[in-house]
Amino acid sequence: MQVARRIFPLLLVLALCPAAPIRAQLSRPRLIVLLVVDQMRADYIDNFSSQWTAGLRRLLAEGASFRQVEYPYFDTLTCPGHSTIATGTLPATHRMVLNVWWDPRKATEVRCTQDNTTRFVSYGRTVRGSADSAANLQVATLADQLRAQSSPRARIISFSLKARAAIPLGGHHPDAVTWFDDAGTWVTSSAFTKAPVPPIADFIRRHPVEADFDEVWDRAAPKDTYRYDATAVGAVPGAHTASFPHALRGDSASPDPAFYERWQTSPLSDRYLARMALDVVKQIYFDTAGGTNMIAIGFSALDRVGHAFGPQSHEVQDTLLRLDVALGALFAGLDDLIGAHNYTVALVSDHGVASIPEQASSQALDAGRMTPPQLADEVDEVFRRVLGPGHYVAHVVSTHVYLNRGVLDTVNRRHALDAIRQGIRALPFVADVYSQDQISPAGADRAGTAAAIARSNDPQRSGDLTIVLRPNWIAYAGATTHGTAYDYDTHVPLLLMGHGIRPGQYLQPASPLDIAPTLAFLAGVTLPQAEGRVLREALFVTSAAPYVSRAFTTGR
Ligand SMILES: [Zn+2]
Repeated sequence: MQVARRIFPLLLVLALCPAAPIRAQLSRPRLIVLLVVDQMRADYIDNFSSQWTAGLRRLLAEGASFRQVEYPYFDTLTCPGHSTIATGTLPATHRMVLNVWWDPRKATEVRCTQDNTTRFVSYGRTVRGSADSAANLQVATLADQLRAQSSPRARIISFSLKARAAIPLGGHHPDAVTWFDDAGTWVTSSAFTKAPVPPIADFIRRHPVEADFDEVWDRAAPKDTYRYDATAVGAVPGAHTASFPHALRGDSASPDPAFYERWQTSPLSDRYLARMALDVVKQIYFDTAGGTNMIAIGFSALDRVGHAFGPQSHEVQDTLLRLDVALGALFAGLDDLIGAHNYTVALVSDHGVASIPEQASSQALDAGRMTPPQLADEVDEVFRRVLGPGHYVAHVVSTHVYLNRGVLDTVNRRHALDAIRQGIRALPFVADVYSQDQISPAGADRAGTAAAIARSNDPQRSGDLTIVLRPNWIAYAGATTHGTAYDYDTHVPLLLMGHGIRPGQYLQPASPLDIAPTLAFLAGVTLPQAEGRVLREALFVTSAAPYVSRAFTTGR
């Protein structure tokens, strides 16, 4: 009955119009809204959604919710995650395999988006040093293909606190892409624009971050509606206090680096990004008619809060509760601007997060922590036991070990690799270790950890050795982190809503690789390299009507 009601007006419209081009035109969303909530675990929906009443609630109530969504690769980190979402390809394909990798020639870390040929274009104070671009991202993104295949050309904007989120989502040629420098200034790069983009400069001028100075971040709901302890066991709150309330001021009487750190590690930064996106869309987005445009927002606050307070904290719950409100306002603004059924929203996360080891230990789980330098020292000691005195480890990124130049030649010449792997495997916190010769691209088709590592490995950018820590063990200085193929890191939400989306809960296995192909399908563009699938079970698609637009039934 419901289906018949939907299809009948469509057939009526089609009967009155010249068929094909109009149907194709009307059946595409006018806007794609791609939202990536950094470090949002899948179980946050089960555990915390009872508090949500606005945007997240609307996504759950009116949208399609996939319940078994998993990253199929090992390096569950921000840059690989956003690049995978943006392209529908694996890290081994798009090559953004880590947030930073090691340049052995210069003995320095390279940011995944770092581009030494670019300079910062600042919306505030001057920022020096090499800026960022999408040059290291070696697959065209959904945004790139929308732009290339649409006529009139699609408009693309992308915002986040982080370059490694905003840039992959915006692709190689966005109309505007902006992120926040730790010095306290919104920036972009000469790779994208020669000068500040006026509508963004205008918004920032009207909404200085410093207006939030001296705000107090406290629970938005009654304390007894929050789960777990008010002060999270094992939390490393950084610049914040150990528990609510958190004053958003600096170490001095005026905005300083400590203030900007606290502001970024608070839901106020998410609210800012949502408001900026809506404002800029209003200013620049709809000066062209037709076509499918795209806005992408990387909401970074949850990641910063999660690293400091862990997944079982009032702070994480409150960040989501306030994101719910910010998204409610964003959707309401888009409803007014273009109509509720003329845009398609996708919300996903780039990775999950482990429990704080001290909390896991208190539940009788084997768990523990070390810092990355401690991990480097432990591995170096194994090399010394096998090869003799010396210094072998150059650097550790996540659990990737980069060796000093020439070390691998020595290891191979002395046929010592097996002994070294055995020595590392014998460390009490290690589950396994893989060297580059064990990780072939063909291995990506196999099951298990070796395959997961192969799917996010790049021989030039990944470490010489990839260490797999035991579950609930971390090598990180803060409270907790992510970056493994364990469930707590790989399982994330995937929510779709709006134009073309069939509401409901879906138990079919899905992956964040599926988002770009699905959105591309709705927008009528092709992604030549996509490795995900179109989530067709959640789309209004029949053989009679390729896409059934809900816009026909609502009059909007
Ligand atoms: Zn992240």
